[in-house]
Amino acid sequence: MLVELEKRGKLYRVITQNIDGLHQMAGQSDVIELHGNTRKILCMSCDKTYSMDEAYTRLEKELPPKCSCGGVLKPSIVLFG
Ligand SMILES: [Zn+2]
Repeated sequence: MLVELEKRGKLYRVITQNIDGLHQMAGQSDVIELHGNTRKILCMSCDKTYSMDEAYTRLEKELPPKCSCGGVLKPSIVLFG
């Protein structure tokens, strides 16, 4: 429904707390993700980003997966607690 509203010029942008990328998968073009997303992986030490595929490759070798700087990698989302 939101994509259809955008196509008709009735919706300019979506601001969401969703982290799953479903808005983009549905075709929404302008999405602000307040809590980040699970498609990017972030180093907790140097802020370098990795793709999910790169993180899975590193995960097969070590747990938790580490950045080239030695920092721990985590999904690029807000983790409460
Ligand atoms: Zn790093």
